[in-house]
Amino acid sequence: MNEVIVGIDLGTTNSEVAVVREGRVEVIPVSGFDRILPSVVGIADDGALLVGQAARNQYVLHPDRTVRSVKRRMGEAARVAMGDKDYAPQEISAMILHRLKTLAEAHLGHAVTKAVITVPAFFSDAQRQATREAGEIAGLEVARILNEPTAAALAYESRHQGARKALVYDLGGGTFDVSVVNLEADVVEVLASHGNNHLGGDDFDQKIVEFVLDHLEQTYGVDASQTPTAMARLRRAAEAAKIELSDAPYATLAEEFLLEHEGAPLHLVLEISRENYEAMIEPYIEETLNTIHTALSSAGLGASDIQEILLVGGATRTPLVARRIEQALGMQPRGEVNPDLCVAMGAAIQGALIADAGAGARTVLIDITPYTFGTSALGEFEGEEYTHCFVPLIRKNTPIPVSKSDVFYTVFDGQKIVDVSVFQGEDRDALNNIQIGHFMVEGLRGAPAGNPVVLQFSLDINGILQVTAREKQSGLEQSITIENVIARFDREKIDAARDRVQALFGEPVDPARPARIGGSAQPADPSSAAAGDARRLRVEARALVEKAERMLANASAENAEDLVDAMEALKDALPGQDDALLKTGMDQLADLLYYLEA
Ligand code: AMP
Repeated sequence: MNEVIVGIDLGTTNSEVAVVREGRVEVIPVSGFDRILPSVVGIADDGALLVGQAARNQYVLHPDRTVRSVKRRMGEAARVAMGDKDYAPQEISAMILHRLKTLAEAHLGHAVTKAVITVPAFFSDAQRQATREAGEIAGLEVARILNEPTAAALAYESRHQGARKALVYDLGGGTFDVSVVNLEADVVEVLASHGNNHLGGDDFDQKIVEFVLDHLEQTYGVDASQTPTAMARLRRAAEAAKIELSDAPYATLAEEFLLEHEGAPLHLVLEISRENYEAMIEPYIEETLNTIHTALSSAGLGASDIQEILLVGGATRTPLVARRIEQALGMQPRGEVNPDLCVAMGAAIQGALIADAGAGARTVLIDITPYTFGTSALGEFEGEEYTHCFVPLIRKNTPIPVSKSDVFYTVFDGQKIVDVSVFQGEDRDALNNIQIGHFMVEGLRGAPAGNPVVLQFSLDINGILQVTAREKQSGLEQSITIENVIARFDREKIDAARDRVQALFGEPVDPARPARIGGSAQPADPSSAAAGDARRLRVEARALVEKAERMLANASAENAEDLVDAMEALKDALPGQDDALLKTGMDQLADLLYYLEA
Protein backbone atom coordinates (compact mmCIF):
# COMPACT_ATOMS: atom_id res chain seq x y z
CA MET A 1 0.00 0.00 0.00
CA ASN A 2 1.23 3.49 -0.82
CA GLU A 3 1.54 6.10 1.91
CA VAL A 4 -1.52 8.20 2.61
CA ILE A 5 -1.28 11.95 2.05
CA VAL A 6 -4.39 13.73 3.29
CA GLY A 7 -5.70 16.97 1.81
CA ILE A 8 -6.54 19.86 4.13
CA ASP A 9 -8.53 23.00 3.38
CA LEU A 10 -7.35 25.31 6.18
CA GLY A 11 -10.04 27.98 5.90
CA THR A 12 -10.68 31.32 7.59
CA THR A 13 -14.00 30.17 9.06
CA ASN A 14 -14.04 26.42 8.50
CA SER A 15 -11.54 23.67 7.76
CA GLU A 16 -11.90 20.20 6.31
CA VAL A 17 -9.71 17.14 5.80
CA ALA A 18 -10.15 14.63 2.98
CA VAL A 19 -8.44 11.52 1.69
CA VAL A 20 -8.55 9.35 -1.43
CA ARG A 21 -9.26 5.69 -0.64
CA GLU A 22 -9.69 3.08 -3.32
CA GLY A 23 -9.99 5.78 -5.93
CA ARG A 24 -12.75 7.67 -4.11
CA VAL A 25 -12.47 11.02 -2.32
CA GLU A 26 -13.79 10.94 1.24
CA VAL A 27 -14.20 14.05 3.34
CA ILE A 28 -13.62 12.89 6.90
CA PRO A 29 -16.40 13.50 9.45
CA VAL A 30 -15.46 15.73 12.36
CA SER A 31 -18.55 15.08 14.46
CA GLY A 32 -21.45 12.81 13.56
CA PHE A 33 -22.11 13.38 9.86
CA ASP A 34 -20.67 16.89 10.01
CA ARG A 35 -17.54 17.23 7.92
CA ILE A 36 -16.80 20.88 8.63
CA LEU A 37 -14.57 21.91 11.55
CA PRO A 38 -14.92 25.57 12.59
CA SER A 39 -11.45 27.16 12.44
CA VAL A 40 -11.67 28.29 16.07
CA VAL A 41 -9.29 27.47 18.93
CA GLY A 42 -9.68 28.18 22.64
CA ILE A 43 -8.60 27.33 26.16
CA ALA A 44 -11.34 25.94 28.44
CA ASP A 45 -11.81 26.78 32.15
CA ASP A 46 -9.79 23.72 33.14
CA GLY A 47 -6.95 24.66 30.79
CA ALA A 48 -7.90 22.07 28.16
CA LEU A 49 -7.41 22.99 24.53
CA LEU A 50 -10.63 23.33 22.53
CA VAL A 51 -10.66 23.16 18.75
CA GLY A 52 -13.68 23.49 16.46
CA GLN A 53 -17.30 23.77 17.53
CA ALA A 54 -16.53 23.67 21.28
CA ALA A 55 -14.14 26.60 20.89
CA ARG A 56 -16.65 28.42 18.71
CA ASN A 57 -19.30 27.98 21.40
CA GLN A 58 -17.09 29.38 24.12
CA TYR A 59 -16.18 32.46 22.05
CA VAL A 60 -19.09 34.44 23.46
CA LEU A 61 -18.19 33.46 26.99
CA HIS A 62 -14.46 33.80 26.74
CA PRO A 63 -13.31 35.85 23.76
CA ASP A 64 -10.07 36.49 25.66
CA ARG A 65 -9.14 32.86 25.45
CA THR A 66 -10.62 32.03 22.07
CA VAL A 67 -9.12 32.74 18.66
CA ARG A 68 -11.08 32.97 15.39
CA SER A 69 -10.04 33.71 11.79
CA VAL A 70 -6.33 33.20 12.48
CA LYS A 71 -5.83 32.67 8.75
CA ARG A 72 -6.09 36.43 8.33
CA ARG A 73 -3.01 36.77 10.57
CA MET A 74 -0.81 34.13 8.93
CA GLY A 75 2.57 35.48 7.93
CA GLU A 76 2.42 38.34 10.43
CA ALA A 77 5.08 38.67 13.10
CA ALA A 78 2.37 39.50 15.65
CA ARG A 79 1.55 37.26 18.59
CA VAL A 80 -2.03 36.17 19.17
CA ALA A 81 -3.21 36.24 22.77
CA MET A 82 -5.15 33.23 24.03
CA GLY A 83 -5.73 32.99 27.77
CA ASP A 84 -2.64 33.94 29.72
CA LYS A 85 -0.24 33.04 26.89
CA ASP A 86 0.38 34.28 23.43
CA TYR A 87 1.12 32.34 20.29
CA ALA A 88 2.39 32.84 16.78
CA PRO A 89 -0.40 32.59 14.18
CA GLN A 90 1.14 29.40 12.83
CA GLU A 91 0.94 27.79 16.28
CA ILE A 92 -2.81 28.50 16.44
CA SER A 93 -3.24 27.13 12.90
CA ALA A 94 -1.19 24.10 13.98
CA MET A 95 -3.78 23.35 16.65
CA ILE A 96 -6.50 23.18 13.97
CA LEU A 97 -4.29 21.03 11.75
CA HIS A 98 -3.43 18.76 14.67
CA ARG A 99 -7.13 18.21 15.35
CA LEU A 100 -7.77 17.38 11.69
CA LYS A 101 -4.80 15.01 11.71
CA THR A 102 -6.16 13.23 14.78
CA LEU A 103 -9.64 12.97 13.25
CA ALA A 104 -8.17 11.52 10.07
CA GLU A 105 -6.15 9.00 12.09
CA ALA A 106 -9.22 7.93 14.05
CA HIS A 107 -11.19 7.54 10.82
CA LEU A 108 -8.50 5.70 8.88
CA GLY A 109 -7.19 3.63 11.78
CA HIS A 110 -3.54 4.44 11.14
CA ALA A 111 -1.08 7.29 11.58
CA VAL A 112 -1.24 10.22 9.20
CA THR A 113 2.05 12.07 8.78
CA LYS A 114 1.78 13.84 5.43
CA ALA A 115 -0.60 16.42 4.07
CA VAL A 116 -1.29 18.75 1.19
CA ILE A 117 -2.54 22.06 2.62
CA THR A 118 -4.33 24.68 0.55
CA VAL A 119 -3.88 28.46 0.64
CA PRO A 120 -5.48 31.29 -1.38
CA ALA A 121 -3.70 31.96 -4.67
CA PHE A 122 -2.95 35.50 -3.48
CA PHE A 123 -1.09 34.32 -0.33
CA SER A 124 2.38 35.83 -0.13
CA ASP A 125 5.59 33.93 0.38
CA ALA A 126 5.50 34.68 4.11
CA GLN A 127 1.90 33.46 4.42
CA ARG A 128 2.71 30.25 2.56
CA GLN A 129 5.79 29.67 4.67
CA ALA A 130 3.79 30.23 7.88
CA THR A 131 1.22 27.67 6.64
CA ARG A 132 3.96 25.15 5.96
CA GLU A 133 5.36 25.76 9.45
CA ALA A 134 1.91 25.30 10.97
CA GLY A 135 1.79 21.86 9.32
CA GLU A 136 5.19 20.94 10.67
CA ILE A 137 4.29 22.11 14.17
CA ALA A 138 1.20 19.89 13.96
CA GLY A 139 3.46 16.92 13.17
CA LEU A 140 2.62 16.87 9.48
CA GLU A 141 5.15 16.76 6.72
CA VAL A 142 3.72 19.21 4.20
CA ALA A 143 3.94 17.41 0.87
CA ARG A 144 2.73 20.51 -0.93
CA ILE A 145 1.21 23.92 -0.36
CA LEU A 146 -1.53 24.05 -2.99
CA ASN A 147 -3.49 27.02 -4.29
CA GLU A 148 -7.19 26.79 -3.43
CA PRO A 149 -8.40 27.36 -7.03
CA THR A 150 -5.99 24.67 -8.20
CA ALA A 151 -7.47 22.29 -5.63
CA ALA A 152 -11.01 23.17 -6.72
CA ALA A 153 -10.08 22.64 -10.36
CA LEU A 154 -8.63 19.24 -9.47
CA ALA A 155 -11.87 18.26 -7.73
CA TYR A 156 -13.79 19.06 -10.92
CA GLU A 157 -11.09 17.69 -13.17
CA SER A 158 -11.27 14.33 -11.44
CA ARG A 159 -14.62 13.76 -13.11
CA HIS A 160 -13.99 15.10 -16.60
CA GLN A 161 -10.74 15.16 -18.48
CA GLY A 162 -9.71 17.43 -21.32
CA ALA A 163 -7.62 20.52 -22.02
CA ARG A 164 -9.37 23.84 -21.36
CA LYS A 165 -9.20 27.16 -19.56
CA ALA A 166 -11.48 27.67 -16.59
CA LEU A 167 -12.57 30.35 -14.18
CA VAL A 168 -12.77 29.33 -10.53
CA TYR A 169 -15.34 31.57 -8.80
CA ASP A 170 -15.04 31.18 -5.01
CA LEU A 171 -17.61 33.00 -2.86
CA GLY A 172 -17.57 31.99 0.80
CA GLY A 173 -19.00 33.56 3.95
CA GLY A 174 -16.58 36.45 4.18
CA THR A 175 -14.19 36.27 1.24
CA PHE A 176 -14.38 36.24 -2.53
CA ASP A 177 -11.77 35.37 -5.10
CA VAL A 178 -11.69 34.45 -8.72
CA SER A 179 -8.87 32.67 -10.53
CA VAL A 180 -8.20 31.89 -14.16
CA VAL A 181 -6.70 28.42 -14.54
CA ASN A 182 -5.43 26.35 -17.39
CA LEU A 183 -6.46 22.69 -17.17
CA GLU A 184 -4.83 19.91 -19.12
CA ALA A 185 -5.00 16.19 -18.56
CA ASP A 186 -2.47 16.29 -15.74
CA VAL A 187 -1.59 19.96 -15.46
CA VAL A 188 -3.30 22.76 -13.56
CA GLU A 189 -1.85 26.21 -14.01
CA VAL A 190 -3.16 29.32 -12.24
CA LEU A 191 -2.89 32.17 -14.74
CA ALA A 192 -4.27 35.00 -12.58
CA SER A 193 -6.12 35.52 -9.32
CA HIS A 194 -8.04 38.49 -7.86
CA GLY A 195 -10.44 38.95 -4.99
CA ASN A 196 -11.94 40.83 -2.09
CA ASN A 197 -11.15 39.73 1.46
CA HIS A 198 -14.34 41.26 2.81
CA LEU A 199 -17.14 40.16 0.52
CA GLY A 200 -19.31 37.08 0.95
CA GLY A 201 -22.53 35.47 2.06
CA ASP A 202 -22.42 37.34 5.40
CA ASP A 203 -23.04 40.57 3.46
CA PHE A 204 -26.16 39.01 1.93
CA ASP A 205 -27.45 38.21 5.45
CA GLN A 206 -26.81 41.80 6.46
CA LYS A 207 -28.94 43.08 3.54
CA ILE A 208 -31.89 40.99 4.75
CA VAL A 209 -31.40 42.23 8.32
CA GLU A 210 -31.47 45.83 7.07
CA PHE A 211 -34.64 45.08 5.09
CA VAL A 212 -36.35 43.78 8.25
CA LEU A 213 -35.14 46.75 10.32
CA ASP A 214 -36.64 49.13 7.72
CA HIS A 215 -39.90 47.22 7.81
CA LEU A 216 -40.07 47.44 11.63
CA GLU A 217 -39.25 51.12 11.55
CA GLN A 218 -41.88 51.92 8.92
CA THR A 219 -44.63 49.72 10.30
CA TYR A 220 -44.18 50.20 14.03
CA GLY A 221 -41.74 53.07 14.36
CA VAL A 222 -39.40 50.73 16.25
CA ASP A 223 -35.62 50.70 16.03
CA ALA A 224 -34.84 47.01 16.64
CA SER A 225 -31.12 47.55 16.12
CA GLN A 226 -30.98 48.83 19.71
CA THR A 227 -32.16 45.48 21.08
CA PRO A 228 -29.28 43.00 21.05
CA THR A 229 -31.42 39.92 21.57
CA ALA A 230 -33.64 40.89 18.66
CA MET A 231 -30.58 41.47 16.47
CA ALA A 232 -29.17 38.05 17.36
CA ARG A 233 -32.41 36.41 16.33
CA LEU A 234 -32.70 38.48 13.19
CA ARG A 235 -29.26 37.54 11.97
CA ARG A 236 -29.94 33.87 12.42
CA ALA A 237 -33.35 34.20 10.73
CA ALA A 238 -31.84 36.21 7.87
CA GLU A 239 -29.29 33.51 7.08
CA ALA A 240 -32.01 30.84 7.19
CA ALA A 241 -34.20 32.92 4.84
CA LYS A 242 -31.28 33.46 2.49
CA ILE A 243 -30.63 29.72 2.31
CA GLU A 244 -34.33 29.03 1.74
CA LEU A 245 -34.40 31.57 -1.10
CA SER A 246 -31.75 29.52 -2.91
CA ASP A 247 -34.40 26.85 -3.42
CA ALA A 248 -37.71 28.69 -3.16
CA PRO A 249 -39.16 31.92 -4.61
CA TYR A 250 -40.30 33.13 -1.18
CA ALA A 251 -39.18 32.82 2.41
CA THR A 252 -40.89 34.02 5.56
CA LEU A 253 -39.11 35.41 8.57
CA ALA A 254 -41.28 34.56 11.56
CA GLU A 255 -40.05 35.52 15.02
CA GLU A 256 -42.52 35.51 17.88
CA PHE A 257 -41.99 38.05 20.68
CA LEU A 258 -39.13 39.64 18.79
CA LEU A 259 -39.27 42.65 21.08
CA GLU A 260 -41.61 44.68 23.21
CA HIS A 261 -43.35 47.67 21.68
CA GLU A 262 -45.59 50.06 23.62
CA GLY A 263 -46.01 47.49 26.34
CA ALA A 264 -47.08 44.72 23.97
CA PRO A 265 -45.05 41.95 22.39
CA LEU A 266 -44.17 42.48 18.77
CA HIS A 267 -44.32 39.42 16.53
CA LEU A 268 -42.44 39.57 13.28
CA VAL A 269 -43.91 37.87 10.22
CA LEU A 270 -42.38 39.13 7.04
CA GLU A 271 -42.28 37.51 3.66
CA ILE A 272 -39.42 38.22 1.36
CA SER A 273 -39.44 37.30 -2.31
CA ARG A 274 -36.44 36.03 -4.17
CA GLU A 275 -36.89 38.88 -6.63
CA ASN A 276 -36.72 41.40 -3.83
CA TYR A 277 -33.74 39.67 -2.22
CA GLU A 278 -31.89 39.50 -5.52
CA ALA A 279 -32.33 43.23 -6.03
CA MET A 280 -30.68 43.75 -2.60
CA ILE A 281 -27.61 41.67 -3.36
CA GLU A 282 -27.26 42.59 -7.03
CA PRO A 283 -24.52 45.22 -6.36
CA TYR A 284 -22.38 42.58 -4.64
CA ILE A 285 -22.77 40.18 -7.55
CA GLU A 286 -21.90 43.01 -9.96
CA GLU A 287 -18.73 43.60 -7.98
CA THR A 288 -17.76 39.95 -8.38
CA LEU A 289 -18.38 40.18 -12.15
CA ASN A 290 -16.06 43.17 -12.37
CA THR A 291 -13.42 41.13 -10.55
CA ILE A 292 -13.83 38.36 -13.13
CA HIS A 293 -13.03 40.83 -15.89
CA THR A 294 -9.98 42.09 -14.00
CA ALA A 295 -8.71 38.53 -13.57
CA LEU A 296 -9.33 37.74 -17.23
CA SER A 297 -7.44 40.79 -18.41
CA SER A 298 -4.54 40.01 -16.01
CA ALA A 299 -4.34 36.61 -17.67
CA GLY A 300 -4.43 38.30 -21.10
CA LEU A 301 -7.67 36.49 -21.94
CA GLY A 302 -11.22 37.39 -22.91
CA ALA A 303 -14.47 35.70 -21.87
CA SER A 304 -14.50 33.74 -25.14
CA ASP A 305 -11.21 32.05 -24.17
CA ILE A 306 -12.85 30.38 -21.17
CA GLN A 307 -14.39 26.96 -21.66
CA GLU A 308 -15.56 26.34 -18.14
CA ILE A 309 -16.59 28.18 -14.96
CA LEU A 310 -16.34 26.30 -11.65
CA LEU A 311 -18.34 27.39 -8.59
CA VAL A 312 -16.72 27.08 -5.15
CA GLY A 313 -17.88 28.33 -1.70
CA GLY A 314 -21.27 28.03 0.06
CA ALA A 315 -22.61 31.36 -1.18
CA THR A 316 -22.43 30.20 -4.82
CA ARG A 317 -25.59 28.20 -4.07
CA THR A 318 -27.42 31.53 -4.47
CA PRO A 319 -29.08 31.09 -7.92
CA LEU A 320 -28.46 34.71 -8.90
CA VAL A 321 -24.73 34.01 -8.88
CA ALA A 322 -24.88 31.40 -11.63
CA ARG A 323 -27.47 33.39 -13.58
CA ARG A 324 -25.50 36.62 -13.64
CA ILE A 325 -22.29 34.79 -14.52
CA GLU A 326 -24.08 33.11 -17.40
CA GLN A 327 -25.46 36.44 -18.66
CA ALA A 328 -22.08 38.11 -18.40
CA LEU A 329 -19.95 35.34 -19.88
CA GLY A 330 -22.44 33.46 -22.05
CA MET A 331 -21.78 30.15 -20.34
CA GLN A 332 -23.49 28.13 -17.64
CA PRO A 333 -21.17 27.61 -14.66
CA ARG A 334 -20.61 24.15 -13.19
CA GLY A 335 -21.61 23.64 -9.56
CA GLU A 336 -21.90 19.90 -9.22
CA VAL A 337 -19.05 19.39 -6.73
CA ASN A 338 -20.09 20.27 -3.16
CA PRO A 339 -18.93 23.90 -2.96
CA ASP A 340 -18.02 23.72 0.76
CA LEU A 341 -15.90 20.58 0.42
CA CYS A 342 -14.50 21.05 -3.07
CA VAL A 343 -11.13 22.51 -1.98
CA ALA A 344 -10.39 19.78 0.58
CA MET A 345 -11.37 17.17 -2.01
CA GLY A 346 -8.97 18.64 -4.57
CA ALA A 347 -6.19 18.73 -1.96
CA ALA A 348 -6.80 15.02 -1.25
CA ILE A 349 -6.63 14.27 -4.97
CA GLN A 350 -3.31 16.12 -5.15
CA GLY A 351 -2.10 14.14 -2.12
CA ALA A 352 -3.03 10.88 -3.83
CA LEU A 353 -1.27 11.96 -7.03
CA ILE A 354 1.92 12.70 -5.08
CA ALA A 355 1.69 9.42 -3.15
CA ASP A 356 1.20 7.49 -6.39
CA ALA A 357 3.94 9.30 -8.30
CA GLY A 358 6.43 6.58 -7.45
CA ALA A 359 4.02 4.00 -8.82
CA GLY A 360 4.09 5.62 -12.23
CA ALA A 361 1.23 8.11 -12.12
CA ARG A 362 2.28 11.43 -13.60
CA THR A 363 1.15 14.79 -12.42
CA VAL A 364 2.55 18.19 -13.12
CA LEU A 365 1.34 21.22 -11.29
CA ILE A 366 2.06 24.69 -12.44
CA ASP A 367 1.17 27.51 -10.14
CA ILE A 368 1.90 31.17 -10.48
CA THR A 369 3.27 33.80 -8.16
CA PRO A 370 0.57 36.35 -7.43
CA TYR A 371 3.21 38.91 -6.39
CA THR A 372 6.22 40.56 -7.96
CA PHE A 373 9.58 40.10 -6.19
CA GLY A 374 12.62 42.24 -6.75
CA THR A 375 15.35 44.35 -5.26
CA SER A 376 16.26 48.02 -5.04
CA ALA A 377 19.07 49.74 -6.89
CA LEU A 378 20.38 53.11 -7.88
CA GLY A 379 18.51 54.45 -10.88
CA GLU A 380 16.50 57.27 -12.28
CA PHE A 381 13.17 58.04 -10.67
CA GLU A 382 10.99 60.90 -11.90
CA GLY A 383 13.99 62.48 -13.61
CA GLU A 384 16.26 62.33 -10.53
CA GLU A 385 18.91 59.91 -9.35
CA TYR A 386 17.38 57.72 -6.66
CA THR A 387 18.91 54.86 -4.62
CA HIS A 388 15.70 52.88 -4.01
CA CYS A 389 14.38 52.23 -7.50
CA PHE A 390 12.49 48.93 -7.51
CA VAL A 391 13.94 46.36 -9.91
CA PRO A 392 11.55 43.41 -10.34
CA LEU A 393 13.15 40.01 -10.93
CA ILE A 394 10.20 37.65 -10.69
CA ARG A 395 7.03 39.22 -11.98
CA LYS A 396 3.51 38.64 -10.80
CA ASN A 397 1.66 35.77 -12.55
CA THR A 398 4.88 33.98 -13.58
CA PRO A 399 4.50 30.18 -13.41
CA ILE A 400 6.51 28.65 -10.55
CA PRO A 401 9.02 27.14 -9.90
CA VAL A 402 10.99 29.94 -11.46
CA SER A 403 14.52 31.22 -11.25
CA LYS A 404 15.49 34.65 -12.59
CA SER A 405 18.71 36.56 -12.36
CA ASP A 406 19.96 40.00 -13.17
CA VAL A 407 23.27 41.76 -12.94
CA PHE A 408 24.01 44.79 -10.77
CA TYR A 409 27.19 46.87 -10.45
CA THR A 410 29.05 48.30 -7.51
CA VAL A 411 28.81 52.08 -7.23
CA PHE A 412 32.10 53.03 -5.55
CA ASP A 413 35.74 52.29 -6.30
CA GLY A 414 37.13 49.72 -3.84
CA GLN A 415 33.62 48.78 -2.65
CA LYS A 416 33.87 45.72 -0.34
CA ILE A 417 30.24 45.31 0.67
CA VAL A 418 26.91 45.19 -1.11
CA ASP A 419 23.65 45.48 0.66
CA VAL A 420 20.80 43.46 -0.88
CA SER A 421 17.19 44.20 -0.04
CA VAL A 422 14.37 41.96 -1.22
CA PHE A 423 10.94 43.47 -1.83
CA GLN A 424 7.52 42.24 -2.68
CA GLY A 425 5.27 44.68 -4.52
CA GLU A 426 4.54 46.59 -7.67
CA ASP A 427 5.56 50.17 -6.89
CA ARG A 428 8.45 51.69 -8.82
CA ASP A 429 9.68 53.18 -5.55
CA ALA A 430 10.98 50.16 -3.60
CA LEU A 431 10.27 51.90 -0.30
CA ASN A 432 6.55 51.74 -1.09
CA ASN A 433 6.75 47.95 -1.39
CA ILE A 434 7.09 45.41 1.43
CA GLN A 435 10.64 44.57 2.42
CA ILE A 436 10.68 40.82 3.00
CA GLY A 437 14.40 40.21 3.27
CA HIS A 438 17.75 41.84 3.56
CA PHE A 439 21.36 40.68 3.62
CA MET A 440 24.93 41.84 3.02
CA VAL A 441 27.65 40.38 0.84
CA GLU A 442 30.95 41.18 2.51
CA GLY A 443 34.54 40.67 1.35
CA LEU A 444 34.19 41.71 -2.28
CA ARG A 445 37.43 42.16 -4.22
CA GLY A 446 37.43 45.91 -3.77
CA ALA A 447 37.50 46.43 -7.54
CA PRO A 448 36.78 49.76 -9.24
CA ALA A 449 33.14 50.85 -9.50
CA GLY A 450 31.14 48.74 -11.94
CA ASN A 451 32.16 45.37 -10.43
CA PRO A 452 29.33 43.02 -11.53
CA VAL A 453 27.30 41.19 -8.89
CA VAL A 454 24.70 38.68 -10.12
CA LEU A 455 21.52 38.43 -8.16
CA GLN A 456 19.40 35.32 -8.49
CA PHE A 457 15.84 34.87 -7.24
CA SER A 458 14.44 31.33 -7.12
CA LEU A 459 10.86 30.75 -6.14
CA ASP A 460 9.80 27.14 -5.67
CA ILE A 461 6.41 25.47 -5.99
CA ASN A 462 5.71 26.10 -2.30
CA GLY A 463 6.42 29.78 -2.65
CA ILE A 464 9.75 29.72 -0.82
CA LEU A 465 12.04 32.42 -2.14
CA GLN A 466 15.83 31.91 -2.22
CA VAL A 467 17.95 34.93 -3.05
CA THR A 468 21.62 34.57 -3.95
CA ALA A 469 24.16 37.31 -4.72
CA ARG A 470 27.41 36.33 -6.44
CA GLU A 471 30.40 38.50 -7.23
CA LYS A 472 30.84 37.51 -10.86
CA GLN A 473 34.62 37.64 -11.00
CA SER A 474 35.50 35.89 -7.72
CA GLY A 475 32.49 33.61 -7.34
CA LEU A 476 32.07 34.91 -3.75
CA GLU A 477 28.50 34.09 -2.87
CA GLN A 478 25.97 34.88 -0.18
CA SER A 479 22.38 33.70 -0.08
CA ILE A 480 19.29 33.77 2.10
CA THR A 481 15.89 32.16 2.26
CA ILE A 482 14.25 35.46 3.08
CA GLU A 483 15.60 35.64 6.59
CA ASN A 484 13.72 38.78 7.45
CA VAL A 485 10.35 37.57 6.32
CA ILE A 486 8.00 38.37 9.12
CA ALA A 487 7.00 35.51 11.36
CA ARG A 488 9.47 33.06 9.84
CA PHE A 489 10.30 30.25 12.26
CA ASP A 490 13.56 28.40 12.38
CA ARG A 491 13.84 24.65 13.00
CA GLU A 492 14.34 24.98 16.74
CA LYS A 493 11.35 27.24 17.06
CA ILE A 494 9.22 24.76 15.09
CA ASP A 495 10.29 21.91 17.38
CA ALA A 496 9.64 23.96 20.50
CA ALA A 497 6.26 25.10 19.19
CA ARG A 498 5.30 21.53 18.33
CA ASP A 499 6.15 20.43 21.84
CA ARG A 500 3.97 23.20 23.25
CA VAL A 501 1.08 22.32 20.94
CA GLN A 502 1.36 18.63 21.72
CA ALA A 503 1.46 19.38 25.43
CA LEU A 504 -1.77 21.35 25.02
CA PHE A 505 -3.35 18.27 23.47
CA GLY A 506 -2.07 16.27 26.44
CA GLU A 507 0.38 14.28 24.31
CA PRO A 508 3.77 13.23 25.67
CA VAL A 509 6.69 15.12 24.20
CA ASP A 510 9.23 12.69 22.85
CA PRO A 511 12.67 13.80 24.05
CA ALA A 512 14.33 11.52 21.52
CA ARG A 513 12.35 12.90 18.60
CA PRO A 514 14.33 12.76 15.38
CA ALA A 515 15.07 16.05 13.69
CA ARG A 516 12.71 15.21 10.83
CA ILE A 517 9.12 16.23 11.28
CA GLY A 518 6.33 13.70 11.35
CA GLY A 519 6.24 9.93 11.60
CA SER A 520 5.72 9.65 15.34
CA ALA A 521 1.94 9.81 15.54
CA GLN A 522 -0.05 6.94 16.96
CA PRO A 523 -3.55 6.23 15.74
CA ALA A 524 -6.06 7.77 18.08
CA ASP A 525 -8.79 5.75 19.75
CA PRO A 526 -11.98 6.98 18.04
CA SER A 527 -14.32 6.02 20.88
CA SER A 528 -12.33 7.93 23.49
CA ALA A 529 -12.05 10.93 21.15
CA ALA A 530 -15.83 10.97 20.68
CA ALA A 531 -16.43 10.58 24.42
CA GLY A 532 -13.99 13.43 25.08
CA ASP A 533 -15.85 15.66 22.60
CA ALA A 534 -19.20 14.90 24.20
CA ARG A 535 -17.80 15.68 27.67
CA ARG A 536 -16.25 18.90 26.47
CA LEU A 537 -19.52 19.91 24.84
CA ARG A 538 -21.36 19.50 28.13
CA VAL A 539 -18.71 21.40 30.09
CA GLU A 540 -19.08 24.23 27.59
CA ALA A 541 -22.87 24.12 27.73
CA ARG A 542 -22.81 24.39 31.54
CA ALA A 543 -20.35 27.29 31.34
CA LEU A 544 -22.69 29.10 28.96
CA VAL A 545 -25.62 28.61 31.32
CA GLU A 546 -23.52 29.94 34.23
CA LYS A 547 -22.55 32.99 32.25
CA ALA A 548 -26.19 33.58 31.26
CA GLU A 549 -27.20 33.36 34.93
CA ARG A 550 -24.62 36.00 35.82
CA MET A 551 -25.87 38.30 33.07
CA LEU A 552 -29.48 37.81 34.00
CA ALA A 553 -29.16 40.15 36.99
CA ASN A 554 -28.44 43.15 34.78
CA ALA A 555 -30.68 42.28 31.83
CA SER A 556 -33.79 44.28 30.97
CA ALA A 557 -37.10 42.52 31.59
CA GLU A 558 -37.44 41.73 27.91
CA ASN A 559 -33.90 40.45 27.48
CA ALA A 560 -34.23 38.47 30.70
CA GLU A 561 -37.23 36.65 29.27
CA ASP A 562 -35.29 35.65 26.15
CA LEU A 563 -32.31 34.63 28.26
CA VAL A 564 -34.38 32.45 30.55
CA ASP A 565 -36.05 30.75 27.56
CA ALA A 566 -32.70 29.99 25.93
CA MET A 567 -31.18 28.83 29.24
CA GLU A 568 -34.08 26.54 29.96
CA ALA A 569 -33.92 25.01 26.49
CA LEU A 570 -30.23 24.33 26.97
CA LYS A 571 -30.67 22.95 30.48
CA ASP A 572 -33.32 20.58 29.15
CA ALA A 573 -30.92 19.30 26.50
CA LEU A 574 -27.98 18.84 28.92
CA PRO A 575 -28.84 15.48 30.48
CA GLY A 576 -29.78 13.88 27.12
CA GLN A 577 -27.56 12.22 24.51
CA ASP A 578 -28.65 14.42 21.63
CA ASP A 579 -25.52 16.41 20.83
CA ALA A 580 -27.13 18.15 17.87
CA LEU A 581 -29.94 19.47 20.06
CA LEU A 582 -27.39 20.54 22.65
CA LYS A 583 -25.37 22.39 20.04
CA THR A 584 -28.44 24.18 18.70
CA GLY A 585 -29.28 25.29 22.25
CA MET A 586 -25.70 26.44 22.80
CA ASP A 587 -25.65 28.39 19.55
CA GLN A 588 -28.88 30.17 20.45
CA LEU A 589 -27.76 31.10 23.94
CA ALA A 590 -24.31 32.10 22.70
CA ASP A 591 -25.85 34.45 20.14
CA LEU A 592 -28.03 36.09 22.77
CA LEU A 593 -25.08 36.62 25.10
CA TYR A 594 -23.01 37.97 22.26
CA TYR A 595 -25.51 40.71 21.54
CA LEU A 596 -26.22 41.42 25.18
CA GLU A 597 -22.53 42.08 25.69
CA ALA A 598 -22.17 44.20 22.55
P1 AMP B 1 -18.15 28.72 2.96
O1 AMP B 1 -17.25 29.77 3.58
O2 AMP B 1 -17.70 28.29 1.61
O3 AMP B 1 -18.45 27.57 3.88
O4 AMP B 1 -19.56 29.50 2.70
C1 AMP B 1 -20.33 29.95 3.78
C2 AMP B 1 -21.41 30.89 3.25
O5 AMP B 1 -22.28 30.18 2.36
C3 AMP B 1 -22.28 31.43 4.38
O6 AMP B 1 -22.54 32.82 4.17
C4 AMP B 1 -23.56 30.61 4.22
O7 AMP B 1 -24.70 31.30 4.74
C5 AMP B 1 -23.63 30.48 2.72
N1 AMP B 1 -24.50 29.40 2.28
C6 AMP B 1 -24.49 28.12 2.69
N2 AMP B 1 -25.48 27.42 2.07
C7 AMP B 1 -26.12 28.31 1.26
C8 AMP B 1 -27.25 28.20 0.36
N3 AMP B 1 -27.91 27.04 0.19
N4 AMP B 1 -27.64 29.33 -0.30
C9 AMP B 1 -26.98 30.49 -0.14
N5 AMP B 1 -25.92 30.66 0.70
C10 AMP B 1 -25.51 29.57 1.39
